[in-house]
Amino acid sequence: MSKKQNEMTIVEAARALRAREISVQDLWDACHNAAVERNPELNAYLEVFDADEAAIESAQKRIDANDASLLCGIPLAIKDNILIEGKIASAASKMLENYRATYDAAVVKKLKTAGALFVGRTNMDEFAMGSSTEHSAYGRTMNPHDLSRVPGGSSGGSAAAVSAHLCIAALGSDTGGSIRQPAAHTGIVGLKPTYGAVSRSGLIAMGSSLDQIGPLAKTVEDARILHEAIRGKDVLDATTIPDGLYTARELSKSLRIGVPRHLLAEGVGADVLAAFNTTLESLESAGHTLVDIELPTSAHALAAYYIVMPAEVSTNLARLDGIRYGHAARGETLLDDYVLSRTEGFGEETRRRILLGTFVLSSGYVDAYYRKADATRGVLRGEYMDAFEKVDGIAFPTTPSPAFKFGEKSDPLSMYLEDIFTVTANLTGMPAISVPIGFVEREGKSLPVGVHFTAPHQAENVLFTLGEVVSFADKAFSLRSPRTNA
Ligand code: GLN
Repeated sequence: MSKKQNEMTIVEAARALRAREISVQDLWDACHNAAVERNPELNAYLEVFDADEAAIESAQKRIDANDASLLCGIPLAIKDNILIEGKIASAASKMLENYRATYDAAVVKKLKTAGALFVGRTNMDEFAMGSSTEHSAYGRTMNPHDLSRVPGGSSGGSAAAVSAHLCIAALGSDTGGSIRQPAAHTGIVGLKPTYGAVSRSGLIAMGSSLDQIGPLAKTVEDARILHEAIRGKDVLDATTIPDGLYTARELSKSLRIGVPRHLLAEGVGADVLAAFNTTLESLESAGHTLVDIELPTSAHALAAYYIVMPAEVSTNLARLDGIRYGHAARGETLLDDYVLSRTEGFGEETRRRILLGTFVLSSGYVDAYYRKADATRGVLRGEYMDAFEKVDGIAFPTTPSPAFKFGEKSDPLSMYLEDIFTVTANLTGMPAISVPIGFVEREGKSLPVGVHFTAPHQAENVLFTLGEVVSFADKAFSLRSPRTNA
């Protein structure tokens, strides 16, 4: 067997476990050892957990008894803003440095029931705000394809851990692209599910009307398996979709794919565009049809996102005030306590967004900014719904360019532009996936790029179908493991 166990996909590991070619203990050891060995270099994990012997033993028993789901015994990595009972969940912030979760997030509960194992908690931009994982209070994460470049963000730790095979698959969260963009930058698959498909109970909130938890995986099939395992109605999250309403749409063999060419005219790298065009050709040769579409309001999506999101951030983070929980500094007066705790506890980007959000919600400005952005959101949603009358999915590149260098986007506006293609799916609540389509060269290194598909609400199956077609990239990926670059 040529593949190392930690390099396996969920499907491969599940098959090997059932064929008794490997044991749960072996698989755990392979992932855990890889994580311990390579983490000092990559900083993908904020903490690598010790083995949970009881969980390993019970997973093996279930597999031996032929009573196991595909995720039984599979080592996964979990983003540091998703609660695992008894473990620290810091959202990569000094504010929550010592916060230990008192309960399991709904998704973690489901994964535990399925018998999955947890390798560790992964690095991220503080409170999931960023596109590079440079805003973590615990140091940046390196891109396994080029250690001088960012892995994307905010789920950069999860993406690097999957890409470098320090786990089999991972969970991240996506408020404006934080699963899809790091997936594209590290050559893996990332899915942002339909808003309400997956419970947000136990996810440290960033923008509550935008956040979704989703999988980062080595293949489209693995992403589908993880998604199926974590989705479903939850009484603890009133926005989750009732199970009866979550129906897979009938798909025809030939899908119509909308391509908004006007969005690609500016700013997309020539080689990224070439990779994207090759992908479109492969979709056509597989029998799907390309349709030119226009999404004129897309030009305002990023602006709307950077008003709605900080507004929700300022509200969600208000509870971290040095009194109730989190970092608590003491000054002369109560006001000093608030100011000191929040100044010491929050990083620069977090403070910037709290201020921006407070401003756009303040009386006198709420109509000019927040309400306008919210209205734009409605228009965008309508425009996408109209487009989906004519097409089954919409395609564009996940990012305009491959992973950038550390410090390259220190100006916040240039960093925000990274999210130009991903934020709309969060504003409209629609599901979207990033799938690797190949590599482009930068300074002698091969860097992965991804294609991004959006589908109508609850039509994740369209994303998986389209993703599978372009999945020749999965093979390209395994041929060119990140190690050849490092
Ligand atoms: N990069 C985007 C931002 O900085 C998205 C973050 C996210 O999806 N959590 O807000």
